[in-house]
Amino acid sequence: MNALTVAKFGGTSVADYAAMSKCASVIKGNESTRLVVISACSGVTNLLVELANGVSSLEKQKALLTRLQEIHFSILASLPENEAVNTAVNDILDTVATFAAAAAKAPSDKITDSLVACGELMSTHIFTHLLNQQGLDAVRFDVRDALKTDDVHGKASPDLIETAYQAQTLLRPLCEEKVVVTQGFIGSDNKGNTTTLGRGGSDYSAALLAEAVQATTLEIWTDVPGIYSTDPRIAPAAAPIDEISFSEASEMANFGAKILHPSTLVPAMRQEIPVFVGSSKAPEKGGTWIRRDAEHSPLFRALALRCNQTMVTLTSLNMFHAYGFLAEVFNILAKHKVSVDLITTSEVSVSLTLDQTNTSGGAPKLPEAAELELSKLCKVTVEQDMCLVALIGNEMGESRGAAAQIFGALGEYNLRMICYGASNHNLCFLTNTAESKDVVRTLHKELFEK
Ligand code: ADP
Ligand code: ASP
Ligand code: MG
Repeated sequence: MNALTVAKFGGTSVADYAAMSKCASVIKGNESTRLVVISACSGVTNLLVELANGVSSLEKQKALLTRLQEIHFSILASLPENEAVNTAVNDILDTVATFAAAAAKAPSDKITDSLVACGELMSTHIFTHLLNQQGLDAVRFDVRDALKTDDVHGKASPDLIETAYQAQTLLRPLCEEKVVVTQGFIGSDNKGNTTTLGRGGSDYSAALLAEAVQATTLEIWTDVPGIYSTDPRIAPAAAPIDEISFSEASEMANFGAKILHPSTLVPAMRQEIPVFVGSSKAPEKGGTWIRRDAEHSPLFRALALRCNQTMVTLTSLNMFHAYGFLAEVFNILAKHKVSVDLITTSEVSVSLTLDQTNTSGGAPKLPEAAELELSKLCKVTVEQDMCLVALIGNEMGESRGAAAQIFGALGEYNLRMICYGASNHNLCFLTNTAESKDVVRTLHKELFEK
C-alpha cells in the first residue's frame, strides 16, 4: 500500500443518516482512504458532558438519556440488518446511564472521560454498519487499543512511541485489508482506563493516527469548505483560503479557530503530512491545503477568536527593579500545575491568561491554593468574561504601518493585554465578550475586505 489517506469526519458530518451517507460517498471517491476517524454525532458530546457534570434530577437524567437514544436510533432506523448494532448501541447507552448515576453522586474527571467516550463508541458502530450497507468492506476498530496516552483525564497527552507501535502492529495491517473506522477524541492510559484529548480532539486523534500509521495525506472533513480568513459564522464576508502553511494554520488553531483542534498540526508537521480541510456536505467546493510552505505568504492571513479566557493580574511594588519576582510567580504556578498561555508585563504588574480548559468545559480557573500562595507575594486580580482576538500573518513586526492600520480600525474598543512582536506571525489582545465579535468583524473589514 503506497498512498494511505486518513479521513476525519466531525460531529455535523455524522449528525444523521443523510450526513453519514455523504461521508460514505467521500470515502468511496478515494480508494486510498483506508482509515476513517469519526466524532460523536452532533450534539452528543454536549449531552454527555452535561450528564458527566452531575445531573441530580432523575427526570432530567432520563430526558438526556432519551435524547441520546433518539439521536442514534433515528439513524439506525434507516439501516437494514441493524440488530447487532442496535444491541451494541443499547449496551453503550446502559453504560452511559450507569456512569451518569455515578457522576450525579460524585463527578470526577475519570468518570467524565468514560462517559463522554460513549459518543464516539456509538457513532463508530453505526457508521461502520452504514459503510458496509453501502458496499464498502469496513471494520470498526477500538482506538483505545492503539492511541495510548498519559492519565491526565480530560486533556490527555499521547504516548507517541506506544501509539506508533500499536498502530503499526494492529492498525496498519488492518488498513491493508479493509476500510477501518475508529473513534476520534478518545484513547487509553497504560492501565487501560479511557482518556480524552480535550473538546474538539478528534482532529488531533486523526493527526496522531496519521503519523502513527505513516499516512500520506490527512483529510479533515467538516461543515465548511476549508479554512476561511475568519470564522464565516462571525463574518459572513470571510473568504476561503486555498493554501496555507503549517505555521500559519497552527497559529490559527492555537488561537482558537475552531475548525482545527489546537494540537492537530503538530503530528502533521513532524511527519510533513499534507492536510486537506473540506466540507463533507459539499466536497465539490474544494477546500484548503495545509503544507509546510504555501506559495503566498500575505501580510495578514486570518483572524481567530477564542472566548472563555481567564486573565490574572499580579501587582506588586516589589517587582520594581527587583529580580526573582517572576521566577517566584512561575514557580507557584508550576507547583499548582497552572499552565500559562499569554503574558504581558509592566514595571509593577504582570498579566497572564490561563491555558485552555479540558473536556468539562468553561473558563479555566486559577486553583484556590495557587491564588492563596500568590496573594502572599502580590495583589491577585482574576477577570473572566473575556475573549482573545488573534491576527495571524507573516512578517507583521517588520511591516511599517501595520500597527497603525490595525489599532486605527479599533479605536473605539477597549483592548487589554496586547501581545505584539514576540512572534512575527501573530498579534493578539483581549476584549470583553460582548464586543468580541464586533471587534473581529471590524478588523476583518479593515484588513481583508478592502
Ligand atoms: P467538526 O464538528 O467538523 O469538528 P467544528 O464545529 O469543530 O466542526 O469546526 C468547524 C467550524 O469551525 C465551522 O463551522 C466554523 O464555524 C468554525 N470556524 C472557526 N474559524 C474558522 C475559520 N477560520 N474557517 C472556517 N471555519 C472556522
Ligand atoms: N466529540 C468531541 C467533542 O465534541 C470531539 C470532537 O468532536 O472532535 O468535543
Ligand atoms: Mg471540531
